[in-house]
Amino acid sequence: MFNKRPLTYGSAPYPIFAERAEGPYLYDVDGNRYVDYLLAYGAIHLGYNYPAVKKFVRDETDKRTIHSVNDPLEIELAEELTNTIPSAEMVKYFLSGSEATTAAVRIARAHTGRNMIVKWGYHGWHDWTRIVRGGPTRGMVDYLRMINCPVESITHVPEEVSNSTIELEYNNLGSLESLMRKEGEDIACVIMEPFYFNLPNEGYLQGVKEIANSHGALFILDEVKTGMRVSNGGAQQLFKVVPDLSVFSKAISNGYPFSVVVGKRNVMKTCENLWFAGTNCGNIVGISGALATIREAKKVDAPVHIWSLGTRIMDGINSLLDTHKIPGKIGGMPPMPYLAFTHDDFEKRKKAAETYLGELVRRGVFMPVEHCFYISYAHSKADIDDTLNAIDGAFKKLKDNL
Ligand code: PMP
Repeated sequence: MFNKRPLTYGSAPYPIFAERAEGPYLYDVDGNRYVDYLLAYGAIHLGYNYPAVKKFVRDETDKRTIHSVNDPLEIELAEELTNTIPSAEMVKYFLSGSEATTAAVRIARAHTGRNMIVKWGYHGWHDWTRIVRGGPTRGMVDYLRMINCPVESITHVPEEVSNSTIELEYNNLGSLESLMRKEGEDIACVIMEPFYFNLPNEGYLQGVKEIANSHGALFILDEVKTGMRVSNGGAQQLFKVVPDLSVFSKAISNGYPFSVVVGKRNVMKTCENLWFAGTNCGNIVGISGALATIREAKKVDAPVHIWSLGTRIMDGINSLLDTHKIPGKIGGMPPMPYLAFTHDDFEKRKKAAETYLGELVRRGVFMPVEHCFYISYAHSKADIDDTLNAIDGAFKKLKDNL
């Protein structure tokens, strides 16, 4: 079987086999409960098995799950999306984040008549995203080593494809400007995540958009992680930047398979002349999941609760790093913080990550390191405080063992 790599998170006490999930908790086949901070890599936003969303999806899918004509729910969802996401004037539905980012890039290529892509962040597994001109980036290589994945796993991409993707230097407008001056006539788009560990400098995202547009390229914001999570309208609402196209998935449908490309009408109209066909795209499972999730997240204003708990855990971890003198840093934003160990030696860093994860799992917490983690609307203050106690214990062990 090939599905999830069992040893992504190290050795014992892995692998875990989950049997069910409820609210912020994951229950394994042996009956252990974990407070979950990976949340299906951020697909869970309101909490597992969230009653209002589950009911809506059940009611709608009792009537049909998929068919080959139009469905009124598709229109309702389009209205909800265009009312919620600042840059959304038109929408196109897909199933996965990889599929939607690839479609956004195709739209940009068709709209501009150009081939090259400038990118920053993770956009999925398709050929154009995996390896960039000049080879795999240092960050990518380290990440793969950290999760016990061979570096060769990303290299089987024809050179002509990898040569058409260029890595952007984050928070450096000067380097983008000089790249665009040199190669701008061939560049179709700049596609990026809004942030990961480091946050954007004041005006940075607006600057990227301005530079891209002034050279005739589109600015695509990949909001697969940030969409709905950092605010109902995504990072574009938070940072007040209006991308030409953006991509949403994960939190927007609380775990039901769904993704969407949204954008300005004049750009999205390009879709009329593009072949995007997916048998399962627009299935009612994802469409109803997204519709119910967006409505519920807005009704309860989920980001307010998530920001408050996220701030509590970031502050708590910071003070525990200090108390135990652990070489580590916390980055990202409260809805999706990122804990990184900062040992100079890579093997020590990897060992620290594995020990930390194992100790947390033994204490009933599932939280990745060297990757952002997520807070859901279902987490409570008590969950966060229990987790900080578990981290306290894990850091003590870490200090004794290293
Ligand atoms: N873009 C971003 C920013 C992501 O975080 C991910 C998934 N982690 C993707 C795209 C790809 O999404 P999927 O795994 O659904 O293909």
